[in-house]
Amino acid sequence: MLDVLIIGSGPAGLAAAVYAKRANLKVLVAEKIYCGTGQIAESNLVDNYLGFSGINGYELGEKFREHAISLGVEFKEGEAVRFEQEEGIWHVTFANGDAQESKTVIYAAGAEHRHLDIAGEKEFSGKGVSYCATCDGAFFRNKVCAVIGGGDTALDDALYLSDISSKVYLVHRRDAFRGSAKTVEKLKQKDNVEFVLSAVPSQITGTEKVQTLQLADGRSLDVDGVFIAAGMIPMTGKLQGVAELDAGGYVVADETGKTSAAGFFAAGDVRTKALRQVITAVSDGANAATSAEHYIRQQ
Ligand code: NAP
Repeated sequence: MLDVLIIGSGPAGLAAAVYAKRANLKVLVAEKIYCGTGQIAESNLVDNYLGFSGINGYELGEKFREHAISLGVEFKEGEAVRFEQEEGIWHVTFANGDAQESKTVIYAAGAEHRHLDIAGEKEFSGKGVSYCATCDGAFFRNKVCAVIGGGDTALDDALYLSDISSKVYLVHRRDAFRGSAKTVEKLKQKDNVEFVLSAVPSQITGTEKVQTLQLADGRSLDVDGVFIAAGMIPMTGKLQGVAELDAGGYVVADETGKTSAAGFFAAGDVRTKALRQVITAVSDGANAATSAEHYIRQQ
């Protein structure tokens, strides 16, 4: 039987694994995507993780993973779909039918991309519609792209694409950005970036590939690619009835990671908190593993 089953191999899960392993606990990390490191792998540039100024997100994720592996942390590929606690033991079932028993669970499954749910979005997904500029940007060399959103992801994506594409429209539904003012300033210096503000996307059209992004006010942009950066949704769909969730679907937990369920801890972007960054995810992982260790010793 495991001491700690960690769900998710992003920064929160990997930090939890390092702390749990160093506390001599029997730990396994379950990951939905083989050798994944979560959303960080999609980030072209991470400039605010202490000590690693200007590092590529994929590279930083690999460093986290190598650290966990160097301590002997083991991984299992699979999507956890059911969590049940019987006589103090967590029974976790995976989509392929596998099961694991553990004294504690650290849930660090992260978040998924929010969709706009507009006409053409699904139809042209992979045919010009993308949720990851770092992954797909290279397909739009010298082409025209629109980035949708006003947060840090949209701003970073627009900056990244401005070095690849001939023209980038940054389309935001309000006239004020949510993301970093410093990045907005950098974007203003770019000749090939145009801000399209107070603009609500209504439809993506084309024949075989994307050709036009239509806006609700009647404006229309001729584009080859549409990058949607409209935020994230926590991956907590399987936690209904397991632990308390807030109205946004985040697991209710303070910085100790303790949830409403005994022996079930939350870490990273799935947790209720003010700042969702790599550095806070790593901190959550350390805290959750320490809480799990204390819990096991008390039992
Ligand atoms: P976010 O901050 O939640 O921003 C999402 C953006 O999408 C908002 O501007 C929002 O508009 C817009 N939006 C949401 N639904 C929409 C819809 N249906 N139609 C049109 N627009 C829509 O998400 P994020 O940019 O992915 O960032 C998530 C977290 O990661 C943040 O804490 C961010 O700071 C962090 N992050 C940090 C970095 C970095 O430090 N380098 C990089 C990426 C992300 P409104 O503003 O009107 O709500």
